[in-house]
Order: sequence, then structure tokens, then C-alpha cells
Amino acid sequence: MIVVMKPSATRQQIDHVIERVEKEFEMRTHPIYGTTRTVVACIGEKRDMAREALAGAPGVESVVPILAPYKMASREVKPEKSQFPLGQATLGGKRVGVIAGPCTVESREQTLEIAAEVKKAGAVALRGGAFKPRTNPYSFQGLEEEGLKYLAEAREMTGLAVVTEVMSENHVDLVARYADVLQVGARNMQNFLLLKACGAAGKPILLKRNFAASLDELMLAAEYIISSGNDHVIVCERGIRTFEDFTRNTLSLAAVPALQGVTHLPVVVDPSHGTGRADLVGPMAKAAIAAGADGLLIEVHTDPERAWVDGSQSLDAKQFAMLMDELRRVAEAVGRSI
Ligand code: PEP
Ligand code: MN
Repeated sequence: MIVVMKPSATRQQIDHVIERVEKEFEMRTHPIYGTTRTVVACIGEKRDMAREALAGAPGVESVVPILAPYKMASREVKPEKSQFPLGQATLGGKRVGVIAGPCTVESREQTLEIAAEVKKAGAVALRGGAFKPRTNPYSFQGLEEEGLKYLAEAREMTGLAVVTEVMSENHVDLVARYADVLQVGARNMQNFLLLKACGAAGKPILLKRNFAASLDELMLAAEYIISSGNDHVIVCERGIRTFEDFTRNTLSLAAVPALQGVTHLPVVVDPSHGTGRADLVGPMAKAAIAAGADGLLIEVHTDPERAWVDGSQSLDAKQFAMLMDELRRVAEAVGRSI
């Protein structure tokens, strides 16, 4: 349930409600201090008792049940959009944040070179996996901590934020030491121990939709992270598996406005994994911005033909720079910027 405080409610009245909910009704609270009013999301079993008891408390305007199965991630609890830092930029605001870089960190030179190129073209963050979730156990698995060091060096050099994947709850601290945003990959979207550990990461989490997950399941996965203590979650549409094999996945762009309607969390689109084809990345990136995405995740490599992973869906530096110019115009047309 949500306790909606009056715009005139004092801090003392808000604290009083929180204390009663926690002590009297043994529920967890999550206050959201908005610009005009505060709402207190309350999670727990005794909500029916608490509803009646709190309706008349000083400073309370109303007490309403939350209909969505996810609570803290929903627009019902927090109608205004969440904005939080993506390195030096902000995600969730007017500016569309472009996160670009190689599928995987291959070497120091490769990482620094690509970082310089994507920075020059206007990206705000560098992506690149140091821990890679590979379907085949004999495929390259990532440079691990060595790769994280190269990413951190690229941040020093360019000022780009670093977005990189964490695959295990045992690695959350390690990855968080180097990254600005921790990515939970599609294959781990319902790795609940990892999601809970991300609650204590102290950094935003980019949560990718699993290729067989519904949007409700994606939102519930986000709720795991928020309810574990981290409300800086970015949700990412990266394509789902359908009967269509013309593309690697089927990118569900309807997910963008659909998610924007139900959650205050920033929504990012990954047209690279969403299509698996470099020639389709640009059109889908433009469409994603037009559909209301807050950010894009795009694979870029200075030599896609020789990329160790996902070369066929990677843009080269020149293609990426040209695309960024086009994206700027699309963003402007829909009242955004890049
Ligand atoms: C990635 O972004 O590098 C990746 C592995 O993507 P996904 O988890 O969406 O397959
Ligand atoms: Mn990839």
C-alpha cells in the first residue's frame, strides 16, 4: 500500500507515519520525497490493518493499495520519472544517454581506442564485458579483473562512465570497485541471489530483459534489486526469442512506451543484441528514441570484422559517429537531446 502525505505534511508527520508502519505493523517502508508531496510505500503482510489505522493520521491524505505486483518500481508509488547519474551525465531526463563500446574487452589498446572514438562521437558511457556469459563453455569468457582495469583506465582517459556485466553475486564488490554501472545480463535476469546482491552494490544496475521474460517478470526482477536496497535500476529491452530467425532476437520496441507507462525507472534499448545485425542497429536505435527510450546500448568496435565477440552486430567508429548525428536529429524531433 502507499501512504500519500498531504503537500503540507511536515517532516515530523512523515516520520511518525514511518515509525507506526514499521513498529506497529511490522512492515517495511520506502519513503519517496517528491517535489510536491511525499509518499511512503509500505510492504508487508499487515497492510489491511494498517490502511484503516493510518487513514486518519496527521498529515495523511490517503492510503491506497498498490495494484501492480511490483511496488517500488511502479509509477503508482512514484509518478515522476527517476533520474540518476550515468557518470557525468544523467539518465532519465531530457537527454538520451548513449552507452557504446565493444561486446567484450579484448586488450588495453582496443579498449582505449574504442573509448576515445565513442567519446568523440558523443557517447556518455563505455560498455564492454570483462565477465562474459557465453553459451559455449569453450568460447572466450572475458579478461575478468584485467579487463575491468582497462575499462577504468578508459574512464580516466575519457571521462566516460563504465558499464560492465556482473555475472555472480560473488563478484559484485569486485565489479563495483571499477564500474559506474553494473550490468545484469539477459541470462541472469532471474538469478535472484545476484539481484539481491546488487541491492548492496552502491552503484546503478542496468538490468537486461531475459529473452523469454514478460515485462512483468522484468519489473519484478527490478523490484528484487530495489527491495534489496538499491533503487538506481535501469531496465533494458534487448530483444526476445520468437519464431522469427531473420534477426538474432525480436526487438520489442512496444516495450518502451509500455514500460514508461508502468515504471518510473529509466528505460534503455539495446538494438545490437536486439537484432544481431549491424545494418539494423541504426534504424532500430532511431525508432527506440522516437518511442521514448531514455538511453541506448550500442556495440561499437574499431575493427568489427576481427572482433572476438559479436562482430556482425557491431558498428565501426565511423558508422557510429554518423549514426549519432542522425540520432541527434531524431532526439530533437521528439523533444529530447543527445
Ligand atoms: C551484452 O550486453 O554484452 C550481453 C551479453 O547482452 P545480453 O545479456 O542482453 O545477451
Ligand atoms: Mn555482445
